[in-house]
Amino acid sequence: MNSRLIVCRDCALLNRIAHLPRGGSARCPRCGALLARGVFDSIDRTLAFSLAGLSLFLVANAFPFLAMRMQGLITETTLLTSVWALYEQKRLLVAGLVLLTAVAAPLLYLLLLIYVLAPLRFGLHAPGVIPCFRLLRRVQAWSMVEVFMIGVLVALVKLADMAQIVPGIALWAFALLIPVMAAATSSLDSELVWDRIGRPA
Ligand SMILES: [Zn+2]
Repeated sequence: MNSRLIVCRDCALLNRIAHLPRGGSARCPRCGALLARGVFDSIDRTLAFSLAGLSLFLVANAFPFLAMRMQGLITETTLLTSVWALYEQKRLLVAGLVLLTAVAAPLLYLLLLIYVLAPLRFGLHAPGVIPCFRLLRRVQAWSMVEVFMIGVLVALVKLADMAQIVPGIALWAFALLIPVMAAATSSLDSELVWDRIGRPA
């Protein structure tokens, strides 16, 4: 039987717990805090949220993010043209950060989730699944769509006095992407995936 060690976040007691059944949970014997939860249908759910996330991501990148109307002139921007505009203004660091945290990392995260989980759903292993799953945990830390969204909202409030802002379909898709990606992350049971793909030594 597979077991793992988990430190209680509340009282720091080290616990050894066995693999949790679907819907089951483990609590700290000393303080009663929740240690881990066996997510119900984790692989199916995470896969569904990842596919939904990827569709939203494609819409968020293919359509105009917002349009600005100023003195009869309409300017439309997409996510990638805004990165390009930053690059042309020699704001290389900001352009790189936006490209990494709002485009590259979320896309790679969703693709890796689908690459690892879709074959697993049918009892198969994708080639290189272990390094891919490790990479997935690293990429997750760089995916910050919500931070980007807050930045956009702050900019919108500031620009509202100067120009008429028309939110584009990509903005709505991007806003929806935030809860969908959070749902994919929270339904992912890493321990279950490691058990299925074989934990490296
Ligand atoms: Zn405890």
